[in-house]
Amino acid sequence: MTGARIDIDLDRIEYNTRLLVASCAEAGISVAGVSKSTCGSPAVARAMLRGGVVQVADARLDNLARLRRNGIAAPLILLRSPTPAEAERTVALADISLNTELGTLSALSHAAQAQGRRHGVVLMVDLGDLREGVLPAEVLRYAEQVLSLPGITLQGIGANLACISGIQPTVDNLDNLVYLAGEMRRRLGVALPIVSGGNTFSLPLLEAGKMPAGINHLRLGASIMLAASPTPPRLYASLDRQAFTLSAPVIEDKIKPGRPYGLSGEDSFGRRPSFDEVADQPSRRLILAIGREDIDPDGLQPVDPNLDILGASSDHLLVEASAAGTDYHLGSEVAFTPDYGALLAAMTSPYVEKCYLQARQAVPRAEVLALFDSDLGPPSLAAALRSEGLAAALAAVGWGLVDGAADAHERSLPVYLSHRIWPDFALAVPVAPACGLIIFTPTARYGDAVDWPAENVVMVGLRDLFLTERDEQVAARQLLTVEDIDRHGIARLLPPAVAQAMHGLPHIHVHFDRAVMAGQDMAAGLTYREAHLAMEIIHELAVLRSVSFGGFDAGSAPALNGLLLSLLGRKVAKPASRS
Ligand SMILES: *Cc1c(COP(=O)(O)O)cnc(C)c1O
Repeated sequence: MTGARIDIDLDRIEYNTRLLVASCAEAGISVAGVSKSTCGSPAVARAMLRGGVVQVADARLDNLARLRRNGIAAPLILLRSPTPAEAERTVALADISLNTELGTLSALSHAAQAQGRRHGVVLMVDLGDLREGVLPAEVLRYAEQVLSLPGITLQGIGANLACISGIQPTVDNLDNLVYLAGEMRRRLGVALPIVSGGNTFSLPLLEAGKMPAGINHLRLGASIMLAASPTPPRLYASLDRQAFTLSAPVIEDKIKPGRPYGLSGEDSFGRRPSFDEVADQPSRRLILAIGREDIDPDGLQPVDPNLDILGASSDHLLVEASAAGTDYHLGSEVAFTPDYGALLAAMTSPYVEKCYLQARQAVPRAEVLALFDSDLGPPSLAAALRSEGLAAALAAVGWGLVDGAADAHERSLPVYLSHRIWPDFALAVPVAPACGLIIFTPTARYGDAVDWPAENVVMVGLRDLFLTERDEQVAARQLLTVEDIDRHGIARLLPPAVAQAMHGLPHIHVHFDRAVMAGQDMAAGLTYREAHLAMEIIHELAVLRSVSFGGFDAGSAPALNGLLLSLLGRKVAKPASRS
């Protein structure tokens, strides 16, 4: 290594997210994953999305811009209220922002109208911590005003506690939030889908089983990243605390006197250190090439229990290593677990290299698509795709194209094609083991012959579903109807659905029946845009192992090509971004 480095273990972040999402789900709570401690890292956002968060949230517009620029299509929340001057950028980048000022809301309304968008707003209520929020007595008046603003949708209310005055979330204050939400629904007739009950500090209530019913959303950062305090005991014990490791190289390794010598005065930070407590014995001191410019030394815990941090100046970190034996020498690296503050600082420091680790076998990056025509005899759908220019379009996004039967190899992405639809087609598709299944289909014909663990299957785009059938399968949370999608949007529903299908598995197979799209038989289905957005979201989760398309014919080859390209990362419409 050449300098300081932070290792970011994406699998551990995904694991933590999954665990917290599952605990929250038991209480009817969905989770926004907060990326601000990683400066809006897209890789971390993807890991959280694979773990099942429904939105990614960050306090800064620049971080949201980074997420969008890097292809995160999931809903984004801006946590810190924007200034009125940032309204345009907020509307362009965030789906939802947390707000407390009518002046800003009115600027957001203008910006939303100008951009032809609807911007979601969560009205923050102060519950005693005296950071952001309108006072409870004012909430209805504010909400009425928000409702009168065109271009703005009042999505919910929320609260933030414990951040500035240490006022904890309690049954009382969160009950009050639920009560206010109820009043708003009753008096103003709004749906108010989000009642956001805080951050990591709300987890002790959750673990104690005391979260007031009606709180249906939390915004979690520190618990996902570090299981940081006040993550309660049971969750703390099961969460992984080693997702981040900071390391720095040894630039000096010497035995020196235990106490400094010479005329004593102030240090470089204006303090007068005292060494009266320090044993007057020679000790081994390591100097590491990292300092206060990069981290807060008080926020670091050496991974090796034989090491102790002595102190740091701007560019040097001193470590007591008398007990460490021969493990360290000039140039070797010393590892630390950062706390939240040190994590923030290290992620922000341009001098600390960011190194992303992911043990989970990455999905083939071979960037060769292998077409398998699963129908016997002509007309060949694969040939139709080729004659519609698939090879050239793929080449433009850096992918090759081969004929599956002849040239497929281990590192290609298999694409199975057929006129037949699910579940008839299912048997012809050799889905690799260790894959969750996402099936885009209008009918709930699961297919008895499809031998797959029910918990690893999600069906998307269903219509004409009999209620009993739904009740049974909804219990396993695996059906997304067109109505669900109308109500909540594919971008919000799909990431957690994929996370559900992947439970315990590293990859997914996607099956897409053409009939799931609108316009085939006059019945409402997924729009063209929704289908593409779904493919883009699956691409961005980077978990696709194989894919099959059913019910397409030569006439629909152009549409199929478009879907395939979205699945490989081509954007139909880039999110507007002024950054
Ligand atoms: C930072 C932040 C969070 C996340 O808090 P954690 O303690 O990291 O879970 C949630 N909400 C708001 C408004 C925030 O600013």
